Amino acid sequence: MRSLPVIVLDPGHGNSADQDSFRRGPSGEREEWINLRVCLLLKEILQKKYEVYLTRSEDKNISLADRVKLAVDKKASLFLSVHHASCDPVFPHVNFPFCFVHGSLLNSQNQHLIESFQAELSKANHGPALTYSDLFVFDKGLYILRELHAHSIASVITEYSFFSHPDEEQLLKSQEYCQKEAAILAKAVEVFFQKTSFESFEKSDVYRFPLSYKHQLQKQKELLLSECDSPEQLWSHLWQQGKDDFILEKYESAFLNFEKVLAINIYFPLVCELLAQMIVCCQKLGDSKKEKIILQVSEFVSAL
Ligand SMILES: [Zn+2]
Repeated sequence: MRSLPVIVLDPGHGNSADQDSFRRGPSGEREEWINLRVCLLLKEILQKKYEVYLTRSEDKNISLADRVKLAVDKKASLFLSVHHASCDPVFPHVNFPFCFVHGSLLNSQNQHLIESFQAELSKANHGPALTYSDLFVFDKGLYILRELHAHSIASVITEYSFFSHPDEEQLLKSQEYCQKEAAILAKAVEVFFQKTSFESFEKSDVYRFPLSYKHQLQKQKELLLSECDSPEQLWSHLWQQGKDDFILEKYESAFLNFEKVLAINIYFPLVCELLAQMIVCCQKLGDSKKEKIILQVSEFVSAL
């Protein structure tokens, strides 16, 4: 019999009421209780299709290392850490969903996580969800995500909503509302496994170029291929270079490399996705090159 994919669900924190007051909503509901409530409901849904383990099933603190160990021991395909966020009481109305993944947002595993978890959380009625790299939090990222990444286990932290928001906190106390969240997360899990079980970035005819741009790319392709023995090696080299440039915020150079990848016509939908992300990143850049890159990238994307 084929074995089921293994998922480890991780209700964040546990039994910390004595040690901290910041994981407490305005009327006293605690984050670790909400996380557990959602995970117990989520397990019910997921165990019909997957082999599911919980890092904790009661209000008890488990070390981060033990949470990782469970996923490694069980050979998990996915580790989903369920959290809820809070912010300073001077901003009681902040409420939006977000996720954390490890390292670059651009590797294919993180792309799958974004396309499933961020996409499904965006349907949760709190506006569009965001995904942050854990490198934004700490230089080396978050312990759990970093360790699981080292063991090649896909992992994501979801922050469904803010329990510091007074109305949201009341909703999060109820089973029905947590059931809704569990259903959204279950859908995201399903989408994630669909994406990882198929060749994700096949050539696509969804995007259509204007003819002139196609000719321009065709010329570039001929030139590139005339200078190399293996197109396969060439695009993976250019792709890697582009990604390295992008991470180092050398957007101009990244753009040129990605365009060459595009000319060889590999991983096309991902390049488009990535260019859209480049615009977002460029908008955050403070340097003088910013305007030019944004213009260049927007022209490129609008030509598609
Ligand atoms: Zn948390």
